[in-house]
This record gives sequence, C-alpha cells and structure tokens, in this order.
Amino acid sequence: MKKIFPLIIVLITLSVLGIMVIQMSWIKNAITLKREQFKKEIDRSLGDSRDMIQERFIAKVPQVPINLDYRQNMLRNLFTSQVFSKDEVQQILESTLRKNNIKQPFEFAIYNIYNTPVIASDGFPMQERDNTFHITLTPENSMQGQEVLYLYVKEDKNYIISRMAWMITASILFTCIIISAFVLTVRTMFRQKNLSEIKSDFINNMTHELKTPLATISLAIDALVNEKVIHDTDKIRYYSGMIKEENKRMNKQVEKILQAARIERQEIKLNLQTLDAHEIIRKVADNLSLQIQEKNGKLHLNLGATKHTIEADEVHFSNMIFNLMDNAIKYSKDNLVIHIETLNNGPMLAIKIKDNGIGMNKETQSRIFEKFYRAHTGNLHNVKGFGLGLSYVKAMVEAHGGKIKVESTLGKGSTFTVSMPLQSA
Ligand code: ADP
Repeated sequence: MKKIFPLIIVLITLSVLGIMVIQMSWIKNAITLKREQFKKEIDRSLGDSRDMIQERFIAKVPQVPINLDYRQNMLRNLFTSQVFSKDEVQQILESTLRKNNIKQPFEFAIYNIYNTPVIASDGFPMQERDNTFHITLTPENSMQGQEVLYLYVKEDKNYIISRMAWMITASILFTCIIISAFVLTVRTMFRQKNLSEIKSDFINNMTHELKTPLATISLAIDALVNEKVIHDTDKIRYYSGMIKEENKRMNKQVEKILQAARIERQEIKLNLQTLDAHEIIRKVADNLSLQIQEKNGKLHLNLGATKHTIEADEVHFSNMIFNLMDNAIKYSKDNLVIHIETLNNGPMLAIKIKDNGIGMNKETQSRIFEKFYRAHTGNLHNVKGFGLGLSYVKAMVEAHGGKIKVESTLGKGSTFTVSMPLQSA
C-alpha cells in the first residue's frame, strides 16, 4: 500500500505529461500542415488570377475569332499587363483569393520585363518583395521577357492560429480537465489514506484504553479469590471498590465513543435550562483541582462577565468546559498555569481557557475539531485520548448556537474561546 501510492502518482503524472507532449507536437504538426495548406491556397489563387488576367487580356484585344493557336500566339507575342488598371488587378485577386477561402488583407505588384513595377497597390512592401508569393504572368514560351505578379498577404501566423482556435481551445480545455481530475484523485487518495491512518490510530488507542482497566479488574478478581483475602472484609471492600472504579472508567470511555456516534447521527437532544455559567465553570474547576495539584499547576479564575446566565444543557455544557480544561492539563509542560476568563461580548458570553502548554502549529489548529484527529505530540505520546473531545465540544457549542475558536503558538500555549449566547431578557 505504501509503495503503490507514489507509484500511482508517478504513473498518472507521466501519462498526463505524455498526453500534453503528444498534444503539443500534434498541434505543432497541425500548424505546419495548415501553413502548407495556406500556401497551397495562395498558389492556387495566384494560378487562377494568372488565368483570369490572360483571359481578360485576350478579351481586351479581340482582332480575329478566337481559336487556340491564335490565343497562344497572342499571349506569347503580345502579352502585357500594362493594359490593366490597378483596380482591375485588385478585383481579380480579391475574387480568386475569396474563392480559395483566404479572407485577410493583401497587397500586390506586377513587375515588367525590366524588373520595374508596372502596377502596385499602395501598401506593397517593395523591399520584402522576394519573400512574397509570386507567379509569372507571361506564358512559358513567351517571346518577350517575363512579367511577374507578386502577392503579399498580411497576418499569416495569426490567421493560421485563428483557423485552429477551436482545436487549440479544446485541447487546452481537455488538458485542464485531465489535470483537475488528477488533482482531485490524488487529494481523495490522500484523504482516504489519512482516514485509514486515523482509524487505525483510534483502534490502537481504544484497545489501549480498555486494556488497562480490564487488566486491573482481572488482577483484582484474582486477589479476591485468594484465600488470604476472601475472609478479610476490608480487603474485599478495597478490591471491589477498585473493580467499580475501573468499571466506571471503562464505561466513561465507551460512553465517549457512543456519544460521538450519536452526534454523527444527530441524535443528541439538548435539555435546555437556565444556567449560571460561572457556577458550572467553578464546579468543573473544583473537580479538576486535584489533577492540577498533581502537576503542581495553578488555576486562575477571572470570571469578569457581568451577565452570565445562559440557556444550555447542564450535562453537555459541563462536559464542554471539562474537556477544554482537561486538555489544558493533558497537553501541558512544567509549571502549568491555566487562566479561565469570562467577558461579555454583545449578546454573547465569551469563555476563554488559556494554558501555557505545548501549543500547536497552524496545521494542527485547523484539524483539531475533526473527529479522531490527534496531533503527534512528540515525547508526550503517552497522553491518552481518542481524538473525540474537541469534535464533541465543537458540535455541542454549535448546537447551543455558539462558536469556538482556537489561538495557539507551538511551544507556548493555547487559548480556546467559547462564545455562548446569553439568555435573552
Ligand atoms: P484527545 O485529547 O482525546 O486526543 P481532543 O479532540 O480533545 O482529543 O484533542 C485533539 C487534539 O488536539 C489533541 O490530540 C491535541 O493534539 C490537540 N490539543 C487539544 N487541546 C490542546 C491544548 N490545550 N494544547 C495543545 N494541544 C491540544
């Protein structure tokens, strides 16, 4: 699985690059072909123009009824384009070019046998004459020198590209579609990979969390059936208390997981009551004071909000505060200090829980509210958890119409701010 992933990416990248290269060379070939076709069309137009000019020449000097020999003789001996006006040549060229599908502007010139221009359009570029298209107007076996028609067609390149515009646009469009599909596929693959890693982490955590109480219970039961203990009521009380405690702990863990599933199915119903938020915060802080003491930490309560009555579910609200404080303790360093502050912010009560613990980087901050997400906490990897606490807190805060945000600096600490709507007067 680990190796297949990069392999797929390499293969898809190669094939996308391959398709792009093939497409580019295909477009290049098509441009060359179009250019050749364009040249042929111009040559054909020039040929048609020559025929038309010769035709008109004969018509202009009709002396005896036309037969082929006479025609050839006339052309061979007498042909000159001097009998044509500029407009006439312009009109002949225009009609033959349009007939051959060439629509852009053009300039022309006819040079006589002394290589001087007889007729020329105003914009004909004399100095570039040798790079223009040309055709000899006099027949091959002419008795005189040659008269040559030069044709200069503007914007050749753009014209060709504009003729291929749909093809180029379509290939760019489809290439973009292929690249987007590729990016989407890779992103989905990464997400799936992440998800499966998260799931296996969760299973590991869960097994670990349940194994410890199970082992303790098993040891306590062994002790209970021991001959020395079985008649000692104090010891029986001690061991059964232990079993009860461990059982409670296990129940709590299972409850956490079930709760997450209930949130997922949106099955949680709030039992809203009027509560004094400060009172609940103090209660939760009391419950956790032992844990804080164990870590030699300090807790500062600065409950400054003047309005602190909220409509909330007591159990869930207490759990929310508990989870945030519990995290502040769990993800702490030495000299733990937790500040809990409340203040009024319009119609909301803001509760800030600030710690000086390990903190989080930006990537972690953006993901902590996802279910099962746990940051890799380096040497704190023994900190237990399912990655469900904050997703629960967020779901509950939002169910109460509130908001939660986090500000944190890696190595320095984090501040979670929960905003709960105050009870409306
Ligand atoms: P759990 O604590 O069970 O892992 P949570 O959903 O409560 O799950 O927290 C998710 C992750 O967010 C934690 O694994 C930890 O990496 C990070 N985290 C939460 N609270 C804090 C905090 N106060 N300081 C640093 N990291 C925290």
